[in-house]
Amino acid sequence: MKKFKIVLVSLVSVLGIFALAACGKGEEAKKEDKNEKLQVVATNSILADMTEQVGKDKVDIHSIVPRGTDPHEFEPLPEDIAKATDADVIFYNGLNLETGGDGWFMKLMKTSKKEENKDYFVTSKDVKPMYLTSKGQESEQDPHAWLSLENGIKYVENIKDVLVEKDEKNKDFYEKNAESYISELEKLHKDNVERYKEIPKDKNLLVTSEGAFKYFSDAYGIQAAYIWEINTESQGTPEQMSQIIDKIKKSNVSSLFVEQSVDPRSMESVSRETKLPIYDTIFTDSLAKEGEKGDTYLTMMTWNLDKIHDGLMK
Ligand SMILES: [Zn+2]
Repeated sequence: MKKFKIVLVSLVSVLGIFALAACGKGEEAKKEDKNEKLQVVATNSILADMTEQVGKDKVDIHSIVPRGTDPHEFEPLPEDIAKATDADVIFYNGLNLETGGDGWFMKLMKTSKKEENKDYFVTSKDVKPMYLTSKGQESEQDPHAWLSLENGIKYVENIKDVLVEKDEKNKDFYEKNAESYISELEKLHKDNVERYKEIPKDKNLLVTSEGAFKYFSDAYGIQAAYIWEINTESQGTPEQMSQIIDKIKKSNVSSLFVEQSVDPRSMESVSRETKLPIYDTIFTDSLAKEGEKGDTYLTMMTWNLDKIHDGLMK
């Protein structure tokens, strides 16, 4: 009987501690601080940067997939789940990016009990989707729409619309920021459409590991070739390797490229086989690390457009 009483007493005190922790003062204060700014979660660094350019100091942004990491397949951390649960707005790319492969984003939205177009929003709305070309995958959308600046501008407009809807008192602020940001993106786009016209036809082949450059090729008038079409499939199989090497040998191209968020070994062996140098590392699915060149969407696109142009002109 004595033993039973002790157990009961300790159970009551344990419950008491839980109750105290749940309604502690710290939690309340934290909530008040957070409420001042719009709480935004973005699935990757590119969307987080676009949001920051429009929202500036009126938003708090949490980016889920770390810079330099592949966003196609990802395992959100407990912190991501907590941030998504508390968020006022969540932005994702769609077009088979976080929603393809293991579908991690939809799982996260379910876990954090969020609803589409109320809590989470697709930034690629109004983008005309392009499709994969590999056999059996022709009905799957290619996610890499942001690699065309014209599409990037659509992303920024969609982000701005959602911020205005969720935080109307700062409407003018968001609109003004979006307008000047878009004019910078527009200038970069127009300048490069012109500049890319000078690349000779027989050298006009952009070789990368992942086939992430469909939208880019369409926008800047170049041909693209790749080892594997999308990061969710097997990477660097013997068949993929012999196909790309054949293609390169038929062209007069003198530079290869490798992306910052993929394993470089396959491209390194293409380079050995074709005796062509890897001209530089370019950005596809992630921005550069903070403080390095290419750490914003604008500078990442500037970097890509400069390096690809110069590499193909060689
Ligand atoms: Zn990708």
